Amino acid sequence: MEPKLTSPSVVREQLASLGIRPLKRLGQNFLVDFNLRERIVAGLELSPGERVVEIGPGLGAITQGLLERGGDVHAIEIDHALAAHLVGFFGPGLHVHEGDALEMDLRELLGRSGKLVGNLPYYISTPLIAAVLEAKPSVAVLMVQSEVAERLKAPPGSSERGALTLLREYAADVEPWAKAGPSQFYPPPQVSSQVVRLRVRPSPVDLPWAAIRPVVAVAFRFRRKTLQRALREGLGLGPGEADAALRTSGIDPQRRGETLSLEEFGRLAARLGQREELPGGAGDAPI
Ligand code: SAM
Repeated sequence: MEPKLTSPSVVREQLASLGIRPLKRLGQNFLVDFNLRERIVAGLELSPGERVVEIGPGLGAITQGLLERGGDVHAIEIDHALAAHLVGFFGPGLHVHEGDALEMDLRELLGRSGKLVGNLPYYISTPLIAAVLEAKPSVAVLMVQSEVAERLKAPPGSSERGALTLLREYAADVEPWAKAGPSQFYPPPQVSSQVVRLRVRPSPVDLPWAAIRPVVAVAFRFRRKTLQRALREGLGLGPGEADAALRTSGIDPQRRGETLSLEEFGRLAARLGQREELPGGAGDAPI
């Protein structure tokens, strides 16, 4: 019988026998709680033979649960020693893709209706979630630091609202799925975590994300300024022009970006898109 990969002693033994010291720079905090692992896997509602992509399998704590349910598992691991270990440990039943998940074609790996799961490495959780949402798995169950989970859920008016919130609202419904404290990982991280379940659905706004993204990016780059100022400084609009664009979109120019709903961003983007060219744009925005 395979050893139980959520057991703290098994995790420590395996790391020692592989000569691996968990790397903070790769966000290597391994899950050592069986019940939490089961909760994560249950969130996927996997049927035997169903495709599931896992980001950052590590030693395979979640992977083991996916394989036990008959999943067709494609796991992406950046750490060579861990990737090689997974191939040897699970054999041909697991497809291991060694490399950076941010550089992989997630859409291709997901196939037509794949699901996605990951205890995400904290240092890149935001760009990874953006990549996941753009790849459109039917369901994604993700462990992230609590601060990121709050950003995914933040309603209009919340100071935690940001570009990631708007992309999430554009692409998927979010459901709080579980909470996790540092003692449920080895080594324990310094922050608390949450598991969220994302269900991808059609966008409520009839514009491509690429058209909304530059306006969202500018609104949050200048989040302390009014929208009128943000459009002037970020997109190079004249004062009258910025004022008119906002008013004809039904938005008070004195409001700030974090108070806007997705629908309001959509109206503003559609209005600005009627201009010949949207200057500036996403610029240094990560999303
Ligand atoms: N899934 C395992 C678990 O729950 O115990 C490990 C989770 S650990 C938080 C994150 C994992 O992601 C590590 O195995 C780490 O090596 C891997 N990782 C870090 N950066 C990555 C990247 N850019 N692409 C793919 N995997 C990455």
